[in-house]
Amino acid sequence: MNPDRKPLIAANWKMHKTPVEAIAFMERLQKETGPLDDREVLVAPPFTAIQALGNILRQKGYSLGAQNCHWEEKGAYTGEISTPMLKDLGCSYVIVGHSERRQLFGETDQTVRLKTAAVIKAGMTPVVCLGEVLEEREQGRTFEVIDKQLKGALQGFSAEQMSGVVIAYEPVWAIGTGRTATPEQAQEVHAHIRGTISSFFSTAIEKTVRILYGGSVKPSNVDALMAQPDIDGALVGGASLEVGSFASLIHFNV
Ligand code: PEP
Repeated sequence: MNPDRKPLIAANWKMHKTPVEAIAFMERLQKETGPLDDREVLVAPPFTAIQALGNILRQKGYSLGAQNCHWEEKGAYTGEISTPMLKDLGCSYVIVGHSERRQLFGETDQTVRLKTAAVIKAGMTPVVCLGEVLEEREQGRTFEVIDKQLKGALQGFSAEQMSGVVIAYEPVWAIGTGRTATPEQAQEVHAHIRGTISSFFSTAIEKTVRILYGGSVKPSNVDALMAQPDIDGALVGGASLEVGSFASLIHFNV
């Protein structure tokens, strides 16, 4: 991490926890965590628990997010949720382009771009997920894949639009597998992403954009990951579902 960028620890609860379970989790978490002044904590529950968590998170200084959205503001899109609806519930972040959405629900760089623009337009911060699959890494194509995803999702946005964007590098082979990228592997890609952002936009944005690492982050590896200069936080699935492990992640030490 770099002291100029506030670290962000983000929980992606995926399709876990009812509203009652989510509230009970947060009540216990708050007993186990101290002040969050020098770090930001984001919780992205399922849509159905967003409203229930809004007040409790706000009171304690946590940020609230969603895991997905539609790019249109309203209309005949059965089953979809728009960005103004999420903003109205108190969300300040939306995760966009998670690899599960790309792999299981047909999300493309094009839809990631539309969603990213919609999130920014609604006054929230997109957490744009990128990452290579194992075969691409083994073929030495990681940077090529990352550049294509970055270009598809973000190139052409204005510097102003880009100023709040958060990027999450999540190697697909490390998500939910227990297999984490080493801190050096992650740092190498984060530095590359920062360089690409600089070439698309400006060095000013390169310095401020936060780049999270995601993929089997747990209490035993978070400190070493956070010690890397271009890793500004973590996007966490499995280890964010247990109070003890999420509290340890929040209290990472560098
Ligand atoms: C994720 O889904 O974004 C993720 C990183 O999951 P996990 O921490 O379980 O690998």
